[in-house]
Amino acid sequence: MEKEFNSEEVIQEFEALTKDAKRIHIETLKQILKENSEAEYLKNLNVDATTDLETYTSRVPLVTHKDLEPYIQKIADGAPYPVLTRKPITNFSLSSGTAQGKRKFVPYNEKVTEFTMQVLQTSFAFRNRVFPIAKNGKALNFLYSSKQFTTKGGVIAATASTNVCRSPEFKKTMKALQTPACSPDEVVFGPDYHQSLYCHLLCGLIFHEEIQVISSSFAHSIVHSFRTFEQVWEELCNDLRTGVLSPRITVPSIRTAMANILKPNPELADKIHKKCSGLIDWHGLIPEIFPNTKYIYGIMTGSMEPYLVKLRHYARDIPLQSGDYGSSEGWIGVNVNPLSPPETTSFAILPNVGYYEFIPVSEIVDPDNSEVDSTQNEPKTVGLTDVKIGEEYEVVITNYAGFYRYRLGDLVRITGFYNSTPMFQFICRRNLMPTINIDKNTEKDLQLSVETAAKLLTNEKLELIDFTSVGGFIEISHIDLVSEPGHYVIFWEVSGEASDELLKECCNCLDTSFVDAGYVTSRKCFAIGPLELRVLSRGTFQKMLDYSVQQGSVLNQYKTPRCVGAANQSVFQILCNNVVKSYLSTAYG
Ligand code: AMP
Repeated sequence: MEKEFNSEEVIQEFEALTKDAKRIHIETLKQILKENSEAEYLKNLNVDATTDLETYTSRVPLVTHKDLEPYIQKIADGAPYPVLTRKPITNFSLSSGTAQGKRKFVPYNEKVTEFTMQVLQTSFAFRNRVFPIAKNGKALNFLYSSKQFTTKGGVIAATASTNVCRSPEFKKTMKALQTPACSPDEVVFGPDYHQSLYCHLLCGLIFHEEIQVISSSFAHSIVHSFRTFEQVWEELCNDLRTGVLSPRITVPSIRTAMANILKPNPELADKIHKKCSGLIDWHGLIPEIFPNTKYIYGIMTGSMEPYLVKLRHYARDIPLQSGDYGSSEGWIGVNVNPLSPPETTSFAILPNVGYYEFIPVSEIVDPDNSEVDSTQNEPKTVGLTDVKIGEEYEVVITNYAGFYRYRLGDLVRITGFYNSTPMFQFICRRNLMPTINIDKNTEKDLQLSVETAAKLLTNEKLELIDFTSVGGFIEISHIDLVSEPGHYVIFWEVSGEASDELLKECCNCLDTSFVDAGYVTSRKCFAIGPLELRVLSRGTFQKMLDYSVQQGSVLNQYKTPRCVGAANQSVFQILCNNVVKSYLSTAYG
């Protein structure tokens, strides 16, 4: 018989790990090197199981994905010897690649699955103390599977979340955590996310009283799901009434699976219809329709924060639980404080999952800038237990999946310690905003500026659907954005028709809300030109999402790129083709 999940046991294990973080962390590195010392990468660097910590950091360079691409290519081509890990890599995770428009192949193995389960169980154990889940509950989990393909050498590639949810351990864990999904597998693994989303919603309605958790990997997908609900609720009610699935569902396996669940239920259809009709602007949709929901769960930090306004609108007083912090490359931190709101969520590092180092922000040289030889002047890293509270760092990981001193590209701020393991907040991706002059704005600064300006939209009862930006100096094919001096270009999609006066005001507000001294000085002396706000037609961000999914991404792992880089031409074209109005700031005269 399966052992029952015991939250207190899991918390005790976490306590033990974090009390002894330093020793366990060093042991973890030793274990990683022992397991993989036959790998070509480590052999080339003269590193093996006997290498001590100091020698390891002096011999192994800090790398980015670009540096590892030749090795990853060898794995993809089926190299018959250990390249990055001793055991052959049979799967790749495809990272979202939202920033550069280029998807990264990331080695995935059973250790990643194992640690994913550890992370999920640990944060669940802490949540469950505060918001216990009753037995026999269900989760409305907006989960999707990406397309899989096989490389020349036979390695299967799919998104990280697809790799995880295809593993038998995932289902077992979800069941043990009393949050099995209400949708059948055929819906999760369906080939068309529009159809899967519709059926997730329908399953949610059928089991609406049993739903205790509403979740997805990222908050964007939860908001997207309920925005879709607003469009299709009458059709869903019709399906409930007649017991006949809408003809929009054409995938035979989904139709068959749904036929086992969907039965004519006019009372339920009437109940849902009445509740939906009674809602004003869909405020409180979630508690009205899913009255037993204990919390809403998904990553809500970083680039997901802008969706919180809408999520809270749907959720009313249901607690929002921000998910853990990880990437296709591996797990970094667990949210062990379920009472903290998403805006202040900190993550604790599990010292047995990988070996972590931290580059102080002051030491960071952009490793992707070809004009700077970062290997000549490698930044010094700080160890796990030596980080300082209040300081910001870039995360570097060494893990069991073949990454050795890998720069993740994310910036974090240390907020404290849980026993002896650091707690940190996610700040942003490094260098997503291009620099025009001496400005140093980050993705976070863009987010704050947009947040301030978007508040003005409420004057006309409008909301910001989503936003992105490009640096005004970027020249892409025939589209000339090169003007002297360069300037910021921000793209907005708004929920309705805003007046010119309001949008002009928003544009000026965006410009003045960037408070970085380099930006303000450059604007004042016109070394940076007036900020430009370009308003997009309705549905443009949906087109960007569709494009990304076509390219192999998956809805629940999707992140709107906050700055579209020069390499991301297709997305840039989508933006440019859908601009309906544009405004230049007059804030600095
Ligand atoms: P991907 O590998 O495509 O899933 O993207 C991973 C990236 O998502 C990370 O490097 C972070 O930038 C972002 N991310 C993951 N988890 C979180 C989190 N809890 N808070 C903020 N950003 C996150």
